[in-house]
Amino acid sequence: MPEPLKKELCRLAAGLKEFVNYQRRSGLQLLEGGYPVSIVKPAAAVAASPEPTAAMSLEEIREEMGDCRRCKLWQSRTRLVFGSGNPKARLMFIGEAPGAEEDKQGEPFVGEAGQLLNNLLHKLDLNRQEIFISNVIKSRPPGNRTPMADEIAACRPFLIQQIEAIRPQIIVTLGGVATHALLETKTPISRLRGKWQQWQGIAVMPTFHPSYLLRFPQERKKTWEDMQQVMAIYKGKGSENSE
Ligand code: URA
Repeated sequence: MPEPLKKELCRLAAGLKEFVNYQRRSGLQLLEGGYPVSIVKPAAAVAASPEPTAAMSLEEIREEMGDCRRCKLWQSRTRLVFGSGNPKARLMFIGEAPGAEEDKQGEPFVGEAGQLLNNLLHKLDLNRQEIFISNVIKSRPPGNRTPMADEIAACRPFLIQQIEAIRPQIIVTLGGVATHALLETKTPISRLRGKWQQWQGIAVMPTFHPSYLLRFPQERKKTWEDMQQVMAIYKGKGSENSE
């Protein structure tokens, strides 16, 4: 079988597995051979969840995505927003999905929410060249709606491969969609934020999404506090095990 076809089949199989596992975690009833099967408990499904392991370079991942049509979002997007920054970043930010401006420019967080993120980074003395910023979904959902389960399932394997390629020390998940997609949990972001989590040995700090902070500026203080914890680890002081 030609190598590109083989790669594509592997990718499709991984996406399908992700989709089925996502449905299980959501407690949805699965159909097997047309017959209903029992609802899988979320915890069991999480334990069984596969993660791609082969570490590819970011260039290889981008190449493999190509003019991605693995979910319906290709029909309405202008361009794919892969992510940008330092391929060897120790600190990675994961957002939800590109918005209108990102869709135009092909860069993550360059719209209004991006301005707020830039302000935060500036105050923390971080620049975008030293970190890596990506999204769960690489194509803009129409009207900036929340990504659907099948879209997350199709795109998540690429996010996982990006993380595997970069192997950051710390990941900051911005908002509920990114946090839930990475950690495979449904716990509300309001309960997870500010508390260290782990993904495959990488410290994960969930915090609010900049778009949420634009709507509720009074919550910015909490993200600031979450980022103080992140910076303490990033700058070599503090521990991600501290409560
Ligand atoms: N821009 C992005 O790139 N991601 C988001 O989640 C929001 C805006």
